[in-house]
Amino acid sequence: MNSKLDPVQGIGIFGGTFDPVHFGHLRAAQEAREILALDDFRLMPAGTPPHRSKTMASAEHRLAMLQLAVSNYPGFRIDDREVRRKGNSYMVDTLAQIRAEEGDSVLVLIIGQDAANHLDSWHQWRRIFDLAHIAIMRRPNSSYSWSGELREQMQKRLAPGPQQLEGQAAGKVIPLEITQLAISSTGIRHQLGSGRSPRFLLPDEVIAYIQKNNLYQDAAGEVV
Ligand code: ATP
Repeated sequence: MNSKLDPVQGIGIFGGTFDPVHFGHLRAAQEAREILALDDFRLMPAGTPPHRSKTMASAEHRLAMLQLAVSNYPGFRIDDREVRRKGNSYMVDTLAQIRAEEGDSVLVLIIGQDAANHLDSWHQWRRIFDLAHIAIMRRPNSSYSWSGELREQMQKRLAPGPQQLEGQAAGKVIPLEITQLAISSTGIRHQLGSGRSPRFLLPDEVIAYIQKNNLYQDAAGEVV
């Protein structure tokens, strides 16, 4: 069990669109935080890409929902720099900025298996390994599917556990076994769009915010 590690000086970045945030994110963040035992754990909502569909919520709404979800949990900090940044927001730029601020600290980017499977489609993806470690959370309905150079990189960098991160600022890949919750924002948007209740899949405060602001009402026909 890794959860008894003394906190390591370092930063965990759990990025996502959080459209809306749900218990799949929150439980995963809690477990990743405990396993990695980092003293600074940040949730980082992505800015709005130009091609975002109209059924989705604005960056301001997504940030407000995230704030409601974690306001009572001091172990989580929200880093809203991507929401505040104008123009495209690339993870590689965000990590480079944090690296410049934090010097040689351990930096860990935490992503789900689904996101990790197409890491090689991210802007300047190879540079990400120079800037951070990557922790990959298993997720229901998603399995490892890497090929070509991404597969080589992942295999070469694989570290069996978070202990291997100590003394190294970036460059390793750590699989994280977390409780499997088959909850997705897409599923929640669909339920809301078709008039069903997403209760017990996300915090009540977030559901109240969605209702008050009439979010996701047209999401029933969203293309998945
Ligand atoms: P969508 O359905 O709109 O694609 P999502 O539910 O996958 O959204 P994101 O905001 O895209 O949520 O996810 C942010 C990060 O959290 C990603 O790395 C994703 O893999 C991870 N994640 C999302 N839901 C879960 C879950 N239920 N369990 C583990 N990881 C999750």
